[in-house]
Amino acid sequence: MHRDLLRQTAELAIDYLDRLPERSMVITSDGASLRAAFGGPMPSMGEPALSVIDHLARSAEPGLAGTAAPRYFGFVIGGGVPASVAADWLTSTWDQNGGLYVAGPAQSVIEEVVAEWLLEIFGLPPGSGVGLVTGCQMANFTALAAARHAVLQRMGWDVERDGLQGAPAVNVVVSGESHVTIHIALQLLGLGGGNVRRVATDDQGRMRPDALREALGECQGPTIVCAQAGNVNSGSFDPFVEIVSTVREVDGAWLHVDAAFGMWALASPAMRHLATGIQGADSWATDAHKWLNVPYDSGLVFVRDADAQRRAMALPAAYLIHAEGAHRDPYEFVPEFSRRARGFALYAAMRSLGRAGIAEMVDRHCRQARRFAELLGGVPGVSVLNEVVLNQVLVRFEDPATADTAASDVLTRDVVRRVQEEGTCWLSGTTWHDLAAMRISVSNWATTDDDIDRSADAIVRCYAAATAG
Ligand SMILES: *Cc1c(COP(=O)(O)O)cnc(C)c1O
Repeated sequence: MHRDLLRQTAELAIDYLDRLPERSMVITSDGASLRAAFGGPMPSMGEPALSVIDHLARSAEPGLAGTAAPRYFGFVIGGGVPASVAADWLTSTWDQNGGLYVAGPAQSVIEEVVAEWLLEIFGLPPGSGVGLVTGCQMANFTALAAARHAVLQRMGWDVERDGLQGAPAVNVVVSGESHVTIHIALQLLGLGGGNVRRVATDDQGRMRPDALREALGECQGPTIVCAQAGNVNSGSFDPFVEIVSTVREVDGAWLHVDAAFGMWALASPAMRHLATGIQGADSWATDAHKWLNVPYDSGLVFVRDADAQRRAMALPAAYLIHAEGAHRDPYEFVPEFSRRARGFALYAAMRSLGRAGIAEMVDRHCRQARRFAELLGGVPGVSVLNEVVLNQVLVRFEDPATADTAASDVLTRDVVRRVQEEGTCWLSGTTWHDLAAMRISVSNWATTDDDIDRSADAIVRCYAAATAG
């Protein structure tokens, strides 16, 4: 019954992956036509699985973004390394419940292995709590829940039992350029997404240690500080050596690092200097679906005090059978109870790349980002706004007729739109320190230098067309 179905589905997937590198980045469909293709009333009678899959693949195709393709430079997306995509298929096939050891020891034990490998390549304290979550949003949430537990416990307050009503006020200090998901996590935790002290940053978006010291001087009682590795625009890293020592001057303060993609710099001997000192924090959040190129969804959280993480996440229940001895129940480390067994795809990615492969990929993307900066920055009227320290490049376009800021903002947004419509590559725009910019992120495992050259050519062509009037 499943044999024909899965064979044909594999053919559809293979066909898609074969076409992907040269498939146009332009999405040819719109919401209304997708609605028409998928929609209509819920059928009263079931359809054969093969025809369901065939219809699904045909209807979805024009509405699929080329996010897994080598010339997709939008946001920070990453593709899926082949072994990881294949392991993800098996994960669906096996359909294990990722919450409990007893519900599938293989998925639980593979998490143990992956957790140890990750702690090792990042140089984080052995024995830290490790959780496999949907993405960095939930990783930030989980880490900050552990932080909330720990800083309030030190005040004699049991936040898991008693909640926040009547609790001592918690000071939250964040980078002035912290990612929106830090604020969403704080919002979900009842700490208030906007009830924070924002620390000033420098011209590259790095938290200023002197401004942090000043902000901490205004805090009394329980305190949580959020720093970041890999600014979502510039790719810059907060100066962790100074930040760690400043936070450690405050008794009992918790330091969390949002390192959604920046964490992976630690996997490269050539790049890890960017994150020197990061190991001195209390918790770290990152993604595997971004730079490690594991298919969605795959986020990772690490907490030095594994017990604080467990206390924040889990409760025992009479009907559960708990893991014994050296083994773990994954649900104890994450907000979810039942969930996908994400460890398999993560394991396959790490095993197929190896330490050398991950380092090579990170180094290559950083080199390719510099190549973009050189190719584009060498064109008259085009400037690179950031120091290209990682995989992120911010580009601005000037109208040769006028150096006016507002006109250049309009032109830059126009070039971004033209590139999106041209289809060679895909990227988007941002506002960086009050200036409109094109935002390029190199993070796909399959990206070659030729992809960079072709994309840079396309961008220059679009700039020329935009200024030709
Ligand atoms: C992408 C990103 C996040 C959010 O990660 P998700 O995987 O989308 O949940 C958080 N912080 C930074 C710096 C990011 O780049």
